[in-house]
Amino acid sequence: MADFSIEQARKITTSIPGPKSNELHKNRLEQVGHGVGAALPVYIEKANGAILVDVDGNQFIDMGSGIGVTTIGHTNSGVVEAVSRQVAELTHTLFTVTPYQSYVDVCEILNRHMPGNFVKRSALFNSGAEAVENAVKLARKFTKRSEIAVFDHAYHGRTNLTMAMNFKNMPYADGFGPFAGSVTHLPMSYPFRDPEGMTGEEAAVRAITYLEKRIGAHNLAALVIEPIQGEGGFMVPAPGFLKALSTWTHANGIVLVADEVQAGIARTGKWFASEYEEGFEPDLMTIAKGIAGGMPISAVTGRAEIMDSSHAGGIGGTFGGNPVAAAAAVSVLKQIEAGGVLEKALHIESVMKPRLLDLKAKFAIIGEVRGRGAMLALEFVEPGTLNPNSAAVDALVKHCHQNGVLVLNAGTYGNVIRFLPSLAISDELLHDALDVLAEGLAKL
Ligand SMILES: *Cc1c(COP(=O)(O)O)cnc(C)c1O
Repeated sequence: MADFSIEQARKITTSIPGPKSNELHKNRLEQVGHGVGAALPVYIEKANGAILVDVDGNQFIDMGSGIGVTTIGHTNSGVVEAVSRQVAELTHTLFTVTPYQSYVDVCEILNRHMPGNFVKRSALFNSGAEAVENAVKLARKFTKRSEIAVFDHAYHGRTNLTMAMNFKNMPYADGFGPFAGSVTHLPMSYPFRDPEGMTGEEAAVRAITYLEKRIGAHNLAALVIEPIQGEGGFMVPAPGFLKALSTWTHANGIVLVADEVQAGIARTGKWFASEYEEGFEPDLMTIAKGIAGGMPISAVTGRAEIMDSSHAGGIGGTFGGNPVAAAAAVSVLKQIEAGGVLEKALHIESVMKPRLLDLKAKFAIIGEVRGRGAMLALEFVEPGTLNPNSAAVDALVKHCHQNGVLVLNAGTYGNVIRFLPSLAISDELLHDALDVLAEGLAKL
């Protein structure tokens, strides 16, 4: 991660968005369907490391990584080389017609690193939502049951099934129904908003009791949970919650699916966020975002007997595990295996967390600092209450964007700022980004 083709520095020389971006945006609004949003309509020309360069020459510190995708850094040299080589050799065969090695390599590395002392296999797809869909298909086929349990504040994608699995109506579901059935939402462990002192075990009992009364354990094919919720606002469940769910699902023949799409692949300082809780043993994992430096590829990894439960031809898709995307994934995964990447995520936490806690001590609108590794968030409230303060988040995000720091909001109540910096980011850039945030807080 050492050599950068773009100077790793923030530089704002126009109003944001600049004149060229504004011009491009005018045309976009003519050409692109308006259901596709734009959080910050600056048009990006190139990127490297942790810096985005727009068409007006402004340089932004990327604290979002395209929602946790360019974890390894923008235009990481290993990924660029692997993709360039692959694109000149082979771009498509369809793995289920005539296979190629790199698909198998991605599966082999994921199988090696998924926690759990059992035989694993993987299958590759294009997006996180598609991975979640396939995990549910496999769980149903394996268990011969139909019901699926998910959690409040969850996010799993934008396809019909995953819309039903998400928590929030706006913007994901409103007007897009009817939705897939047989999906039940359970109360999540959300320590900041749960009754004070509620343990992880108690939160698990709350969820399990509801499920037993409402659905019956014997009807459940799968329980799907993000070990740290992403779009919901980086909720880290209370210790013991994930383990208790794991114990219960295994005792009842329910497939436990960890949706690691946002928290997985080195983001939190381990290969998978699931590893933080001993005794939490997912049967399947869904993996996407950070796996291939920005190339579209996703995976389901898990117990061989579940992965093998489908008849041949039941699982697949035209582009799934595309050779170019697979080459990028192999490069990213091998860089993590080579060492230093997980450590870098923990280092980012060690730089950011004290500063975020310091801001919390100074500004009463910060209700909580949470997250792990390079997946950190601030939840904003009205001072002295738990009332969500989305107005503060909107103002702060705007201030950061105007000053060349790309941050993202999150949260069911829109009152969370989340940080998903690339692991190629320097301490200097992290401090610079946090200085901009602190300045915005002082101005509020
Ligand atoms: C982003 C996300 C998805 C959906 O992934 P797409 O690639 O956008 O389909 C699913 N689960 C989680 C936890 C996510 O963060």
